[in-house]
Amino acid sequence: MTKQNVRCDACGCAFVPEPKTQREGEIEYSFFNCDYCGKAYIVSVTDAALRRSIRKYRSLAEKLKGKPLSEETLRDVTVLKDANTKRAAELRQMYIREE
Ligand SMILES: [Zn+2]
Repeated sequence: MTKQNVRCDACGCAFVPEPKTQREGEIEYSFFNCDYCGKAYIVSVTDAALRRSIRKYRSLAEKLKGKPLSEETLRDVTVLKDANTKRAAELRQMYIREE
């Protein structure tokens, strides 16, 4: 994956984000800080169940890569992916106060 510059909303500086993770109990925050002013940007928030589900999705996607998928399989994969996306959004709302 190529690292891309991001621009900080707070100070306007462009920098290459260095992703870090922080655990608080079962909750894991993935974030990076602005190189210049230190503002924290949270990338994602996951709990144990979501991390398990994401792993499941990734291994499934890896296994199915390049293979013709039946409609049923495709639906299962999509359902799993959508559930993860939805849960990630819920956790974000629960644990992050956007300014
Ligand atoms: Zn900044």
